[in-house]
Amino acid sequence: MNKKVIVITGASSGIGEVTAKLLAHQGNELVLGARRESRLQKIVQDIDDTGGSAIYQVTDVAVASQVQNLAAMALKFYGRIDVWINNAGLMPRSEFIKGRVDEWDKMIDVNLKGTLYGINASLKTMRNQYSGQIINISSVAGHATSIGSGVYSATKFGVRAISEALRKEEAAAKSNIRITVISPGAIATELTDHIKDPETKKNLDKFYNDYAVSPDRVAKAIAFTIDSPEDTTMNEIVIRPTAQK
Ligand code: NDP
Repeated sequence: MNKKVIVITGASSGIGEVTAKLLAHQGNELVLGARRESRLQKIVQDIDDTGGSAIYQVTDVAVASQVQNLAAMALKFYGRIDVWINNAGLMPRSEFIKGRVDEWDKMIDVNLKGTLYGINASLKTMRNQYSGQIINISSVAGHATSIGSGVYSATKFGVRAISEALRKEEAAAKSNIRITVISPGAIATELTDHIKDPETKKNLDKFYNDYAVSPDRVAKAIAFTIDSPEDTTMNEIVIRPTAQK
């Protein structure tokens, strides 16, 4: 694998953390963003201890200027942005009748607007480089809805819509920028910890206990797309536990 500068949002736990460690182990230079600084510090230390290269910047992806600062940090320290992974996400699911409007707003701000801010922060740099890859994390819930998944699914369907339009624009511009969507199924992370609706939490905890697999499965898929030949793009990978219905 050629060494690349890779920015990951939501890198303080779960898929983002494991992906950061794998890509750093493969010799890439990592720039990590999330809100929990102590977690980011520890991950950067772990990477450093194993001979890798990583820096972090506390970043709330719901704030456009903070996402711009993350990109600026990558350019300041490493001079380029080869891959930007819009991974930060929240899934406080519940049925519409519960009226958890604050949670709907948060999912739209983080999952959807955060992805847009990441694209905005990296695209012009990649155009100038005539090279780059934007990887957006959607979900199998971005392909199909279920009871209680309405708003989360809307954000993840939205991530796929944004990605496909972006892919067409970059192909038309002949910018040499690759656009990839990763749509995971049930992965054992902290994602379900933030579900506040008791009934939804109970159902999803059971579902995750029955099906969820390690985030390293997704990290390996991400590393595979990054390492594939640059004249070809894996535009979407759906990756779910074999037993998940
Ligand atoms: P985690 O909860 O472990 O990780 C979510 C990450 O997002 C954390 O690092 C968190 O960091 C970060 N985050 C949340 N809000 C913000 C914010 N406002 N600004 C910056 N970072 C934020 O869950 P996963 O690893 O599972 O989630 C990663 C992605 O994978 C998400 O987009 C999720 O929707 C998607 N996904 C996960 C699946 C699963 O089953 N686990 C299935 C399908 C998709 P911090 O709190 O420190 O800011």
